[in-house]
Amino acid sequence: MGIKGRRALICAGSKGLGRGCAQALAAEGVHLVLNARGGEVLEKTAAEIREIYGVDVSTVAADVTTQDGREAILACSAGVDIVVNNAGGPPPGNWRDWDREAFIAAFDANAYAAIALMQATVPGMCDRGWGRIVNITSVSVKQPIGVLGLSNTARAALTGFVAGISRDVALHGVTINNLLPGLHATDRTVGLDTYEAGLTGESREAVAARRCGSIPAGRYGTASEFGATCAFMCSEHAGFMVGQNILLDGGGFNSTL
Ligand code: NAP
Repeated sequence: MGIKGRRALICAGSKGLGRGCAQALAAEGVHLVLNARGGEVLEKTAAEIREIYGVDVSTVAADVTTQDGREAILACSAGVDIVVNNAGGPPPGNWRDWDREAFIAAFDANAYAAIALMQATVPGMCDRGWGRIVNITSVSVKQPIGVLGLSNTARAALTGFVAGISRDVALHGVTINNLLPGLHATDRTVGLDTYEAGLTGESREAVAARRCGSIPAGRYGTASEFGATCAFMCSEHAGFMVGQNILLDGGGFNSTL
């Protein structure tokens, strides 16, 4: 991939899709700054990645949605070449119940955290003439998900921001793109399947089987195939990919273009 020896910050990377991205970059010889809130799982993930791939992995146990958390993360991330922005998704619910605080929390987590980290890291990447940003967003920016209106709203804001700034920095060798997961087999999806089971009265397994059946690929995606796509987007080969929204959903979004 041409990125051996580069350094990457992976936010929210101890589990799930963030971990998939961390592993795929480590497999390319990229050194990591790995973040999540829970220190125990974070340290375990970091140790496994060091052991398997032999790269340096430093850890920052911090909440990326807070100013203090981002300051702690950035203190360990000086001069990073690659940033994968990620955070936990907002809770599902009914749009009638969401108040201002719920929208602000979703914006903080799924828009502003990524915006703030781009503001902090992209200028340095531009000065050095190379950089890669991948923001993990969601299929919900193309196809709204009813119970995830907070996600639909916050991620649309980040998508609009990226559309503008990616064109502003491309001249400096810095690419900014979004990677959109459809349904992937992670804890997040277990939580959403459980939520839907509570609404419909089905078992969680029945919900998962029904949702897999609605995907042309017939299954949920995996964190490792998600990570492999992320690694390509961070690679030397992806230098002409600017401001794109790359959807990984097994064909679930039905469209010609
Ligand atoms: P996951 O399996 O639940 O993993 C979430 C990871 O993020 C964990 O490592 C978690 O560790 C960390 N994290 C959560 N909140 C954090 C915070 N405030 N600060 C730092 N780290 C945090 O979730 P996932 O499936 O990988 O999803 C990742 C993102 O993709 C989410 O925003 C999700 O909504 C979105 N997404 C996922 C899917 C899917 O099918 N999986 C589909 C569409 C969108 P700690 O809890 O220890 O912090």
